[in-house]
Amino acid sequence: MLDFLGDLRRSHTCGALRITDAGKHAILMGWVNRRRDLGNLLFIDIRDRTGITQIVFDKESNPALHQKAGELRNEYVVAAIGTVKKRDSNTVNKNIATGEVELIASELRVLNESKQPPFLPGDTVLPNEEMRLKYRYIDLRRDAMQRNIELRHKISIAIREHLSSQGFFEIETPFMTRSTPEGARDYLVPSRVQPGSFYALPQSPQLFKQILMISGFDKYFQIVRCFRDEDFRADRQAEFTQIDLEMSYPQPQVVYEVVEGLLTGAFKAAGHNIKTPFLRMTYDEAMRLYGSDKPDMRLPAMTDVRDAFTAENLQTLAISSTLPVVVIRIPKVGELSRKERDDIKPMLTAKANARLFEDFKRLEKNFPEAATKIRAKTHAESDDLIVLVAGNGKPAEHKSEGGVKPEVKQHDHAVYTAAGLLRLALAQKYADRHGAFKRTGNPEHDFRFLWVTDFPMFEWDEEGKRWAAAHHPFTSPHEHDMDKLESNPAAVRALAYDAVLNGTELGSGSIRIHRQDIQSKIFHALGMTEAEARNRFGFFLEALEYGTPPHGGIALGLDRIVMILAEADSLREVIPFPKTARAVDLMVDAPTPVSEAQLKELGIQIKK
Ligand code: ASP
Repeated sequence: MLDFLGDLRRSHTCGALRITDAGKHAILMGWVNRRRDLGNLLFIDIRDRTGITQIVFDKESNPALHQKAGELRNEYVVAAIGTVKKRDSNTVNKNIATGEVELIASELRVLNESKQPPFLPGDTVLPNEEMRLKYRYIDLRRDAMQRNIELRHKISIAIREHLSSQGFFEIETPFMTRSTPEGARDYLVPSRVQPGSFYALPQSPQLFKQILMISGFDKYFQIVRCFRDEDFRADRQAEFTQIDLEMSYPQPQVVYEVVEGLLTGAFKAAGHNIKTPFLRMTYDEAMRLYGSDKPDMRLPAMTDVRDAFTAENLQTLAISSTLPVVVIRIPKVGELSRKERDDIKPMLTAKANARLFEDFKRLEKNFPEAATKIRAKTHAESDDLIVLVAGNGKPAEHKSEGGVKPEVKQHDHAVYTAAGLLRLALAQKYADRHGAFKRTGNPEHDFRFLWVTDFPMFEWDEEGKRWAAAHHPFTSPHEHDMDKLESNPAAVRALAYDAVLNGTELGSGSIRIHRQDIQSKIFHALGMTEAEARNRFGFFLEALEYGTPPHGGIALGLDRIVMILAEADSLREVIPFPKTARAVDLMVDAPTPVSEAQLKELGIQIKK
């Protein structure tokens, strides 16, 4: 069908035509993006992956061709042959790269027709997301989606190139594996050959990558799909992509350098030159300064101003003297109305058992000395919003978000967490006023990276009434905290670290346990009996006994990195075929029930 193309076949793609091509013969193939009929002149915009070019059909010079072009409709696939012409200066279109030229057609082929699509790739107003996902192939034709997918490709290639240059091998690990739950629920795949037995899709290649270290591949990586059957949470995907890596004999510092290198490459692929090394902050510091283990440093840190108040002040205000009194400062918010101040109240999570002082003016009136000290300590400007969060008078059983943490005491933690959440909520609410979230083009301002280190090893699982691994059970405790494993689990720090950017966790990793005796101790501390541990991870415990080198690694979320770099507001914008929040694929309509015959073969009966 395409014989007529001859040598012209590769001559041009739509968005590639330039003024220097004027006078040349060219062929363009693509979709009809838009048509404008001016009577004698018919303009057709042709679109392909590279962009858009205008094609002109002139009735006077070629009436038959003009008529044929008149039959074209949106999204027809066509090939047009013609001569590139410089446009008159008054018809130049600055909005498209090829806006200075057009193609004067001498031949036109309709390669395929199209039904009228439910929406058009060129539409400026988007249909609802369900429609976009159902007709994803139309949605993906849109310029924004084409750019996002191209960016994703460039980022993946940059990451692969960096890791390969550092001596890492990309090695695949199985998708059909053993159920070893790591935190979320597994997706299960029934075995037909062994009815009643199931494979699980990996939540991550964690154990395989550790086994690759035992196997002598001392630098491994993989850009790999992971599967987690999690409850509905905004912007999570049932299957998502990790940049997973592991290496033998590393200090955390070595892992940081590898990751900083791959992120430098990834960000460069999107046109940003970021600075390394990243700042480092311990978990305790992050909690104290930001009330979060993923600090957003684009806005000022919080300040504990307990000592600005006298004991009498604290008593009058019914503030606990043993808990932090945290100041949140959001710059340039300006004076708030009474109503605006009232709106802040419900933003403090009720669970926190903390007190809120949202009217700093009043505090200033009643406690002028304390207020002066607070202004000085926080370096507040006159138009900054200052809000205080304090522990209430009775430090009862405060329950923290993530369980008990070492050093930052449990009650303190509850106040810090509540203040941290409020800080973020206020930052979002007044984003237009402080402007700190706007991109400026300066990577040091736009991308505030850091490493959060020294995470707690365990957290208290209130539901199960037991200690759970804060990262995962293969994470090595801090050497100096080994003796506290049994006596004081809350105080055990882990050799775990997170890469954080602008309040988002990009990735998590750790130095692993490489000795079987310590691994057993950890399982024991997690309340697992020897038999349970053998049953779940027996193959791995055995492998650990055959000369395991010290090793460690990390996994970073590729989807999230691309989303940030594409300045998209959802992961679904950077995943070609994503699922909805309910893990449904609207295009192929999955999941679906399967036939009785299939179930029978698998020995599965569905309970009605
Ligand atoms: N496998 C871990 C995860 O997916 C990351 C790691 O420790 O390397 O969170």
